[in-house]
Amino acid sequence: MLWEYGPTAQCFINTTREAPCQQGYVPRYSVNASSVEHIQKAIRFADKHDLLLVIKNTGHDHLGRSSGGDGLSIWTHNLKGMEWHDDFMPTNGPGAARGHPAVTLQAGEQWIDVYGAAAEQKRIVVGGHARTVGAAGGWLTGGGHSAWSNKYGLGIDNVLEINVVNADGEHLTLNQHTNPDHFWAIRGGGGCAWGVITSVTYRTHPEPNHIQAVFVQVNATDEVAFRKAMVGTLQGIDAMTAAGYTGYAYIQRPADATPETPAGFGGFFNQADGNNATLFAGSPAFLALNEIEGVSAIVFPLEYPSWSAYTGVWLQDPNVAQNVIDASRLLTPKVVYDRTKLDALIDMMVDYGAGFNFIGRVKNDTRADTAVHPAWAQSLGILSFGANWKDDAPLAEKKQKKGMVVEQSRQLGEIFGPSGGTYINEANPFEPEWQQVFWGTNYARLLKIKREIDPTNLFVCNRCVGTDILFEP
Ligand SMILES: Cc1cc2nc3c(=O)[nH]c(=O)nc-3n(C[C@H](O)[C@H](O)[C@H](O)COP(=O)(O)OP(=O)(O)OC[C@H]3O[C@@H](n4cnc5c(N)ncnc54)[C@H](O)[C@@H]3O)c2cc1C
Repeated sequence: MLWEYGPTAQCFINTTREAPCQQGYVPRYSVNASSVEHIQKAIRFADKHDLLLVIKNTGHDHLGRSSGGDGLSIWTHNLKGMEWHDDFMPTNGPGAARGHPAVTLQAGEQWIDVYGAAAEQKRIVVGGHARTVGAAGGWLTGGGHSAWSNKYGLGIDNVLEINVVNADGEHLTLNQHTNPDHFWAIRGGGGCAWGVITSVTYRTHPEPNHIQAVFVQVNATDEVAFRKAMVGTLQGIDAMTAAGYTGYAYIQRPADATPETPAGFGGFFNQADGNNATLFAGSPAFLALNEIEGVSAIVFPLEYPSWSAYTGVWLQDPNVAQNVIDASRLLTPKVVYDRTKLDALIDMMVDYGAGFNFIGRVKNDTRADTAVHPAWAQSLGILSFGANWKDDAPLAEKKQKKGMVVEQSRQLGEIFGPSGGTYINEANPFEPEWQQVFWGTNYARLLKIKREIDPTNLFVCNRCVGTDILFEP
């Protein structure tokens, strides 16, 4: 809904039929693609008639990159299918090499269905912590974080091969042997800038013995206690992620505290095969916060017998059909252990509240082979500020809140400096320094590849590589 309205429409789900409704950012026409050929024809048609081409899978994108007014859309949701392999060999790979256990997913598959099918195969796939996010669209091109990322890396680190339709309408197989530059760019280069993905093949991994989940709650009675608690909490995140945990969290600022949700930090961590030893290694920094006056902290573990049992309880779809936008940065030790920067960050938490869409040290063995911001290699998590509003909020309120999120990006830029980066899929749709903040030193190479493979800029979206489409607050 956030994007369907476009920048100015005030047409709500319960608006009367007589009231004027504009098109917003909804494309005029959409191809309900159920074959590669449909995609090829739509691409050639858009190219011939010089149409704005919009690629949409689930429509979950935080940056409006699957929306576009006056465009022609290709909708990939109905391209379903999964093929499981014991011994997958990438095309043109070295003949003597051994294959990998893998799964090939068609473009419209969604994580909850993949997890269900993987359980039947007694395997796991590195995927999102959400039911409905697409397994083979924007999650993948943006990087794709997962509860498994500490053990197995981001989604892009698990890709063996991707099939795409390019700007000429050709169906290509991308891997490190066939098209190394294109394959590098699509793994982190973001959005739909690299062609329309028709399928992707991911490595699969063995099932764990169990999943440990750990709740951490840190409460503070007032702002003085809150500031002290946040210093310890961010350093606690360092210890927890070093012990192998990934997680998700919110930070309630003192100004919004209620008896039900006091000021502080509410975190939810997990680890495959986590146990008492990993918990004792990770959690003391949180428990030590009990020594601060006005602060209380608890750590509470639970165990699930399988990934399926865990996903059945904990995979939700937060923020779907909500008006939420974020300004974010990858939190690095450089900021956590610099007291001036840390205090400036805590000032922002007091002003705005905050949250973590993902906490975790990611396995970065193949980071140089991917196009995401290099700051991922040091990241402890994605720290987000942001704003939300009701559907029918007045336009002036929406504009003021979008402006506030741009201001949050500016403040984050000052704290993190020019080497600070973020996760592009959970970033500010109006990020001012987007090339630098989304890709850092990788942007120049991405732009060069983009110009080579898509010289007429057919594949464009808000703040995507090489684009001139910049949505305004
Ligand atoms: C409820 C929710 C939970 C989330 N949880 C996680 C999480 O656990 N981990 C995480 O990393 N992220 C998460 N995200 C963020 C998510 O990664 C992004 O929203 C992502 O853009 C979704 O991709 P999609 O293909 O499902 O969505 P869409 O909005 O359909 O597409 C997103 C982008 O990908 C492009 N695209 C889609 N399909 C294709 C295709 N076949 N070929 C080429 N381009 C394509 C679109 O043009 C657009 O630019 C979550 C988002 C939501 C709303």
